[in-house]
Amino acid sequence: MDVVLKYADDYVFDSFYNKMLSISVLNNATTSGMASDLMVSSWTQDNVYRQFLTVFIIVCSGGWFFYLAAACLSYYFIFDHEMMKHPKFLKNQVRQEIICAVSAIPGFSILTVPWFVGEVRGYSLLYEGTPQTTQEWLYLIATIPAFLFITDMGIYWIHRFLHHPLLYKPLHKLHHKWIVPSPFASHAFHPLDGYLQSTPYHLYAYLVPMHKWLYMGMFIFVNVWTVLIHDGNFFSHSDIINTTAHHTVHHLYFNYNYGQYFTFWDKLGGSHRQPTAEQYDAALRNNKSVWAAQSKDADTIEREDEVKAQKYKQY
Ligand SMILES: [Zn+2]
Ligand SMILES: [Zn+2]
Repeated sequence: MDVVLKYADDYVFDSFYNKMLSISVLNNATTSGMASDLMVSSWTQDNVYRQFLTVFIIVCSGGWFFYLAAACLSYYFIFDHEMMKHPKFLKNQVRQEIICAVSAIPGFSILTVPWFVGEVRGYSLLYEGTPQTTQEWLYLIATIPAFLFITDMGIYWIHRFLHHPLLYKPLHKLHHKWIVPSPFASHAFHPLDGYLQSTPYHLYAYLVPMHKWLYMGMFIFVNVWTVLIHDGNFFSHSDIINTTAHHTVHHLYFNYNYGQYFTFWDKLGGSHRQPTAEQYDAALRNNKSVWAAQSKDADTIEREDEVKAQKYKQY
């Protein structure tokens, strides 16, 4: 984030804040009769309040841009549009997903800003510079699977926790409104839900040394992956990777496949449900009687979960 912030400051925000501050000084000078040509730049690049505001603007506008660009590309080039005829695909669903995501991103960004400002101010373990020795290169390469494995573990448990009857309705149910998701569902969640599921990535940067460029690359990858697992198209039949088919099962039947990248934690936690021909076979995938059975199962599971939630409320 410090690299992004530096470029943004040099090319956009230095002049932006100077203009804002000089307008404010001019207004004050006009009313108080003081000299009106004073240029003020007291909000220097390392001012913590300025960093909070700038990082928020970058994360929020970058989030909107990235979400809309990635989801649009996936929607037009990968998403199986036949899925929109599924009885569980809501009327105006894509519009609803976009409104939900676009309005969640500012809240999500506000919550995320302290992690990024901490990085900018040097509190994280992100490092820079080209590795010099074989050992350093090996460490750099090893941080890729380590990042995926550790953050996958964090997301698995947080996601599973969000399915607890007490938390599900207030925080996570919004993302499960999309029983048959489109790529626009990827970031269509409650801001706190999205934030909680992103905490493993931020925490990782404070606990494990990682090269900052690699971390930035992984962060982009994570967001692309999030869009891809909602695209309804199944290229991979992997039993190890938590593919789009696995996440489709999660949206249909709720209490399975909480993982993000791998099936490892689901298998260990007893929540793994392997996708079947219903997901993999193109003919069955768009078969109306299969859709009817899926809708019935989804309704049954939703009703059972509702009963469980009511029981918890009584305690
Ligand atoms: Zn879920
Ligand atoms: Zn999802």
